Amino acid sequence: MRFREFIGNDAVRMRLSGAFEGGRVSHCMLLSGPEGSGKHTLARIIAAAMVCTGGPEIPCGLCPACRKVFSGVHPDVITVDDADHKTVSVELVRRMSADVYIRPNEAGRKVYVIPRAQDLTEPAQNALLKILEEPPAYGTFLLLTTNAGRILPTIRSRCAELALGPVEKHEALAFLKARYPQAKPQELEDAFRRSGGFLGQAMRAMESDDLLPQAAAFAESYAAGDAFGVLQALVPLEKTKREQLIRILGQIRQWIVRSLEARSTPSARTPETDRLLAVRTGSELFAAAAALQTAIEDLELNASAGAVIGWLTAKLR
Ligand SMILES: [Zn+2]
Repeated sequence: MRFREFIGNDAVRMRLSGAFEGGRVSHCMLLSGPEGSGKHTLARIIAAAMVCTGGPEIPCGLCPACRKVFSGVHPDVITVDDADHKTVSVELVRRMSADVYIRPNEAGRKVYVIPRAQDLTEPAQNALLKILEEPPAYGTFLLLTTNAGRILPTIRSRCAELALGPVEKHEALAFLKARYPQAKPQELEDAFRRSGGFLGQAMRAMESDDLLPQAAAFAESYAAGDAFGVLQALVPLEKTKREQLIRILGQIRQWIVRSLEARSTPSARTPETDRLLAVRTGSELFAAAAALQTAIEDLELNASAGAVIGWLTAKLR
């Protein structure tokens, strides 16, 4: 994903891509906005831009470094969070402080992402301030917060502040239509209205539907690593009508993509994503999401359900 693919918030987006093009990138950024406003997505694009080895557009989205960032496995992009605690403790920040003076593994920079900066305790904020006062040249910090007012002014004064606002309706609807091609226009309108203009919330509204029974049967076996069960769930889908099959495969793909996202975004973790991640590796999930995407596209181009399912049974085990 590149800056121009981030939906809405044109001023923020242009400021960032301009900063990267001109080599004037701040070593600390504070991304603020409500739940679902795109902070995590934008942080990932910024992190990719920091370590990208491709070009000419930065991030290119294609080089090995970018791919690692987007699949949450880049060793120099480090998330500072502990999903099991309500606050982000001083111990976590101290651990980060011990790590920050160890040179990057493979990139020119080391990027620390603090996804819940509003939950940093006061001692944690003070410890963070010490790091920000004398960071190593390669150190970069991305603070994400739902409330910039909870961050110490002394920290804020060291950060470039990027406030994310709601997305225009036409942009949001175009995005939702591309992401949920099987949904009816009215469903998309409803999801947008419930979201207040924040795409993450609109997506949650779209995905709050329970999995269709066929998708649930697949999910059950796939999360258990049961290759025979996966096959048993897939084969009957050969007889499903094309439109319904696109919906089922779309739901399965969403679930896998959400799990991949949850690896680098602890706040996106759910019992379902945890269950999948405990059994399946990132590269397996990546390959599965790509295969499902290909299958959906083939179906949209009128490939037969039988042919697509036959192909998928070889790809998903
Ligand atoms: Zn790249």
